[in-house]
Amino acid sequence: MTIPQNNLDGTVAVVGGGVVGCFVAYRLAGMGVPVTLIDQEWPGSGATGNSAGNVQPASGDDDAYKIALGAESLALWRKYLPRIKETGGDEFGDQDVRYLYAAVNEKEESAAREVLSGLHAAGLKAEWVDGRSAREIEPNLSDSIIGGTLHQDCIQMDPKLFMSAFATAAEAEGVTILRQKQASGLTVSGGRIVGVNFQDGTSLECSSVVLATGAWTGQAVSKWLGYDLPVEPYGLQKLHLELGSATPLNCAVRWNGVNIVCRRDGKVHAGSRFDPAGFDAKPSDDARAWLLAQVAEILPGFHASGVETIAAFAASTPARIPLVGQLPGIDGIYLAVPSTDGFLMAAVLGEMTSELMVGGKAHPLMERSPLAMARPR
Ligand SMILES: Cc1cc2nc3c(=O)[nH]c(=O)nc-3n(C[C@H](O)[C@H](O)[C@H](O)COP(=O)(O)OP(=O)(O)OC[C@H]3O[C@@H](n4cnc5c(N)ncnc54)[C@H](O)[C@@H]3O)c2cc1C
Repeated sequence: MTIPQNNLDGTVAVVGGGVVGCFVAYRLAGMGVPVTLIDQEWPGSGATGNSAGNVQPASGDDDAYKIALGAESLALWRKYLPRIKETGGDEFGDQDVRYLYAAVNEKEESAAREVLSGLHAAGLKAEWVDGRSAREIEPNLSDSIIGGTLHQDCIQMDPKLFMSAFATAAEAEGVTILRQKQASGLTVSGGRIVGVNFQDGTSLECSSVVLATGAWTGQAVSKWLGYDLPVEPYGLQKLHLELGSATPLNCAVRWNGVNIVCRRDGKVHAGSRFDPAGFDAKPSDDARAWLLAQVAEILPGFHASGVETIAAFAASTPARIPLVGQLPGIDGIYLAVPSTDGFLMAAVLGEMTSELMVGGKAHPLMERSPLAMARPR
């Protein structure tokens, strides 16, 4: 892998104030680099604020590579959270959660056991539990459960509140945040980036730029630089269920691709369901009914007192592998774009990007990033 030149002799502009852009900016500032973080709205206004806030390795059909990347990111979240709380405040309801990857038939049992091997290979805490033990842990669970992988290495938090604390912590670390400032282009001179242009006619000089623009990245690089990158908006719908007088769930559950987790504020998140409308995703009765049916089937003992349907979108990349590293062809342009598990991956993407930009160190797990294949049209 080519090691880019370290050329951070000016401001680094990070475009996109989601959890990924914030992590990148926070880590760069921690290394003494002058950083400006730019968002067209405010930190967390994109996919991040609408996510479930799960820092949960193996939240999809992940292979060993993805689970290892997730495990490393979880360790980095644990490393940086205490300092973020110290300077940003700790009112974001973070909690260690256990996730039961439930199985109701042999096919699901084999998939849950595969997750178990992947978690063990990555050094994460998990064990197999039979149906009876699962129901002892969480009495609302269905009698149809024959067993499951109890994944004990996850954190969950309120993503909107976290982002407010994280933005404060980033500013304390030295990051300048520009809110409601929409980037509309990049200026390249002599083969390298020299500035970011804004919709309002102003611009910012910079020595490097990091595009952490999530689902908007495909459009941005196409319009601004003439590159085609495989990043698509991926619509998702989820439910927030009110507990009412019900007892909070003891254990989070993942079944049939749906995560059900009780937040510390008592809201139960259940999601997500794919919505092909992408950027135009809107709450639908169909998605609400389907998600409620999954909850009723796996947790028949749980009855919500209120339901809110939320539609949002995240970026999706091939095989859910993040695009991270330097964009080939123009000096000083970096990307940090995860797929639909970007809340988890944000810490490792922040670390990889800052280490690459400041120390020229390419993380070994960057090898699989589809970015290496990017070429202008
Ligand atoms: C319903 C739902 C549930 C999810 N649950 C989880 C979960 O539990 N765990 C998990 O790991 N992941 C989850 N995800 C995925 C996760 O939310 C995303 O992968 C992650 O938040 C992406 O972070 P980001 O910083 O890359 O993107 P975003 O949070 O989308 O941030 C990109 C930012 O760029 C800004 N921007 C874009 N274009 C411009 C421009 N031209 N100028 C200035 N600013 C610009 C946007 O305003 C936005 O704030 C979920 C997603 C959804 C939709």
